[in-house]
Amino acid sequence: MSEGDTLFSKIIRREIPADIVYEDDRALAFRDINPQAPTHILIIPKHPIPKLADAQPEDSDLLGHLLLIVAKVAQQENLSDYRVVANNGAGAGQSVFHLHLHLLGGRPLQWPPG
Ligand code: AMP
Repeated sequence: MSEGDTLFSKIIRREIPADIVYEDDRALAFRDINPQAPTHILIIPKHPIPKLADAQPEDSDLLGHLLLIVAKVAQQENLSDYRVVANNGAGAGQSVFHLHLHLLGGRPLQWPPG
């Protein structure tokens, strides 16, 4: 595995199976293996950015694209109410250092989150 290569890169390369619900040239969305809600989908860029804090101004179009995919996938999943989460850093719960957005829905979601 090269630097910046995580298990999400392996999913992109189809070296690890995943339940993929959306794909285009810049992004992939697949179901979380350990769902925290009835619908729990991860939206990732194919270009590996370790975490949100590492994103650069030139990534702004890609970041906007990821949010639009969240909305598209939520509609695909018939979700009207949902939460979008990006854990940034281990202390915030990030375990895979390939930027990803969590799409969570299908149950009432409490605020604030833990
Ligand atoms: P985070 O803790 O924010 O870094 O989120 C990483 C997420 O990846 C967790 O919710 C894990 O359950 C999920 N995950 C880990 N391995 C896999 C996998 N092979 N397929 C799908 N989701 C995974």
